[in-house]
Amino acid sequence: MFDFDNFCFRCMGKTENGVCKSCGFNNGEYETPPHHLKPKTILNGKYLIGAAMGVSIGDAKSICRRS
Ligand SMILES: [Zn+2]
Repeated sequence: MFDFDNFCFRCMGKTENGVCKSCGFNNGEYETPPHHLKPKTILNGKYLIGAAMGVSIGDAKSICRRS
């Protein structure tokens, strides 16, 4: 079962103390831009939001994964 309390905002891997075991991303250092959805937001009951992967003018792309 997916661990909603301990997942990496960048790769959705498992974290320990907020740091990803797979990619080393530190969730505690991530600052959500004011116009982005916050990590751990669930859309339509099945898409989990992580950190933004990149931003182009007027458009944000975030990681989503089916739950
Ligand atoms: Zn990661």
